[in-house]
Amino acid sequence: MPYEAVIGLEVHAELQTRSKMFCACPVVDSTQAEPNSAVCPVCAGMPGTLPVVNRTAVELALRVALALECEIAPLSLFARKNYFYPDLPKGYQISQYEYPLAQRGVLRIETSRGEKVVHIRRVHLEEDTGKLLHVNQPDGEAFSLVDLNRAGVPLLEIVSEPDMHSLEEVRAYATGLRAILRRVGANSGDMEKGVIRFEANVSLRPQGSDQLGTRVEIKNLNSFRAMERAIAYEIERQSRVLERGQTVEQETLGWDDAAQLTFSQRSKEEAHDYRYFPEPDLPPLIVEPEWIEKVRAAMPELPQAMKNRFMKQYGLNAGEAALLSEDEAVARYFESCVSEAGPAVPARTIALWICGEIFGWLNQSGESIEAVRVTPAALVELLRMAGDQTINLNTAKMVLSEMLASGRGAAEIIGERGLTQVRDTALIAEVVARVLAENPREVESYYQGKTTVFNWLLGQVMRQTGGRASPSAARAELERQLSASKTD
Ligand code: ADP
Ligand code: MG
Ligand code: ZN
Repeated sequence: MPYEAVIGLEVHAELQTRSKMFCACPVVDSTQAEPNSAVCPVCAGMPGTLPVVNRTAVELALRVALALECEIAPLSLFARKNYFYPDLPKGYQISQYEYPLAQRGVLRIETSRGEKVVHIRRVHLEEDTGKLLHVNQPDGEAFSLVDLNRAGVPLLEIVSEPDMHSLEEVRAYATGLRAILRRVGANSGDMEKGVIRFEANVSLRPQGSDQLGTRVEIKNLNSFRAMERAIAYEIERQSRVLERGQTVEQETLGWDDAAQLTFSQRSKEEAHDYRYFPEPDLPPLIVEPEWIEKVRAAMPELPQAMKNRFMKQYGLNAGEAALLSEDEAVARYFESCVSEAGPAVPARTIALWICGEIFGWLNQSGESIEAVRVTPAALVELLRMAGDQTINLNTAKMVLSEMLASGRGAAEIIGERGLTQVRDTALIAEVVARVLAENPREVESYYQGKTTVFNWLLGQVMRQTGGRASPSAARAELERQLSASKTD
């Protein structure tokens, strides 16, 4: 029986505040800082301490909620989620439960089948836990260490409806959400540092059914890749279970990245297992309409809006516009090039070069756009020379890759290497005549109908000009001489 996958995501994003969610401890980079160097009695869970809400964290959460078009609750409540774990010194996590900060939003995603709306169930504030480090020493001794630097760091949880049905949709949702988080300044998007973590809920149902099947929840997915692999694995595993006529058990799973499989952590916990109750040490969180309006007024242009604008304003297609609007620094680079170019180089041409050559270099070098040493002015200068035929396209690509590697300017490289395009028709005619004279057998087989030889001959012409001939001029001249000598 064909099954449809049903996927809902819970995303935890650390909020980029200077201090923690409920105390004055600084938020430190947990990959750099000395363990337990940013801890106070509040985040260490000492009895008798009192939490105070971080206003900036609420403000960043409001930005995300607005970007996701959520309804924002005028009054929301913090609640205690009780459970025991060594990285949670208080024995409970302050979260929001029945009355979250925001609900009922949307995230519009772009897939190969067009635009799709994924509904957001809720967006709420909570605090992060500490971190455990498990040590296995060569002498066989094993122990665990706890670092509380992360305990109490503000976290935003964004919970989707079970609206996604493929890995492509999950990828688009996760990428889109990350882009929003970064754009509004809520999160750095730095996945390697663990500032965004996913939990994926996955179930299957018979194709065409509108009921939800039994789901599993996969915890602690720290990268896009781990999330996609884990979901793909679960879809496979569950369809085998169902094919055998068995039933999927509702449970909480972990993802073993080394073995590339999910493993059972525990049977699914229910809300009552956490003995939620309202946090007695914090007042209700009141968000006045004036505050929302102030936050709304200061919102930057969101990736989605920017994408649509790029399509309209610059004539880009959806894919190009999405690529150029996802990262703010890339968008800024693109738009600086456009304004630098004026009417001399079409915006679409600039877009294609950035999406092609520049992104190629970024992927290869693992660098970010900030590391690109080719300034917008330098890129535009190169594209002008390609546009006015000073150099041909292949030369332009080669020059750009040298510019990216060395940071030198186009004119300098072109001048030094004598790369300007040869459009001198007399010279091209001379080279074509020589190539034809040197390759009588190839010319003969061309006349006998082997038309592919044409490109080979053209290649010889390009080679003899050091790749500098204008390809269109060379092609035209080759065609002319071939048909001229045929009628002889
Ligand atoms: P909890 O994890 O606390 O039980 P919820 O029940 O609200 O929270 O669901 C959490 C996530 O699971 C949501 O993202 C939701 O979309 C998703 N979800 C719920 N039911 C299913 C299902 N049958 N299949 C896939 N995802 C589901
Ligand atoms: Mg959950
Ligand atoms: Zn603290």
